[in-house]
Amino acid sequence: MNYRHAFHAGNHADLLKHIVLMSCLDRFTQKPAAMGVLDAFAGAGCYELDSDAAMRSPEWRDGIGQLADWDDAPAPVDALRSSLESRVYPGSPRLILDRLREGDRLAACELHPQEAAKLRAAIGGDQRVQIHERDGFAALSALLPLAEKRGLILLDPPYEKPDEMERSVAALSAGIARFRQGVFVWWRPVKAGFQLDRADRDLRMSTGLEMLRADLAIADPGATSRLVASSVLVANPPFGLKERLEAVLPALSARLDQGGGGYRLGALG
Ligand code: SAM
Repeated sequence: MNYRHAFHAGNHADLLKHIVLMSCLDRFTQKPAAMGVLDAFAGAGCYELDSDAAMRSPEWRDGIGQLADWDDAPAPVDALRSSLESRVYPGSPRLILDRLREGDRLAACELHPQEAAKLRAAIGGDQRVQIHERDGFAALSALLPLAEKRGLILLDPPYEKPDEMERSVAALSAGIARFRQGVFVWWRPVKAGFQLDRADRDLRMSTGLEMLRADLAIADPGATSRLVASSVLVANPPFGLKERLEAVLPALSARLDQGGGGYRLGALG
C-alpha cells in the first residue's frame, strides 16, 4: 500500500467524484428519514494544499486551482472552492460528515494505519462516525445492509494493483445483493485499454439496477500516460441527479480542459 491520496487531492478526479457524491447526498437530506453512509476507501479526511506531498505533485492546480474565479459556481462546486482559502481540501468522509444530520451515520474504512490515524484525528470525535481499519472491498459484504433504510456507499479504491477493477465489480455485486435499495457510487480512472464499458455492462446486467455514468476528461486519455480522465458510476441514482450534474459538468469541463478533454453523462442502457 504505497498510495497516498495527498498527492492527488483536489485534482480533476476528486472534483468529479466529490461533486457526484455531494449531489447525491444533498438529495438524500431533503427527506427526513435517517441515512447511513459507507465510505469504503475513506483516506485521511482532509489534505493540506501546501503540504510537501501536494507541493511535490501539485495536481490540485489543474483541478480545484482552476476554479478560483468561478464566482457564481453551483453549490457543490462552491463547497469545494472554499478549500482555496482554507488551504485544506476536504476528503470524502469530511464532505459526507458535513452533510449528516442528527441521527444519520457514517462508517468509514481505511486500511493504511497512518491514514486511518489522520482520519480519526480529523473526524473521529463525532459520535455519528465509526472508523474501521479494515479492507474496503470486504466491507461491502461485512457492513451491508446498513441499519438505515436509506443509504449511500462510496467505493473509491486506489487502483494500485491490476485486479482492483475486478475486485470492485465483485464487491459491488455482493454489496448490491445485500442492500439493493442503496445508492452505490463507484469512482474509476479512465485509461487507454481499461475495460470500463465491459465492467459497467456486466454490473448492469447482473444487478438489473438503473445506473448513471458521468465521465470527465481534462485532456485526451489516449494521448498521454498521465491520469487525465475519470468516471463515476452511480447505481440507483437519486431522482434528479442527471439534471444536477448537467448543470455543473459543461462549465466545469470547460474550465479544466487542457485540450482534447470533455465530459459524458448518461444512463447505462
Ligand atoms: N475517498 C477518498 C476521498 O475521496 O477523499 C480518497 C480515497 S483514496 C483514492 C484510497 C484510499 O484507500 C487510500 O487512503 C488508501 O490508503 C486506502 N486503501 C488502500 N487499500 C485499501 C483497502 N484494501 N481497504 C481500505 N482502504 C484501502
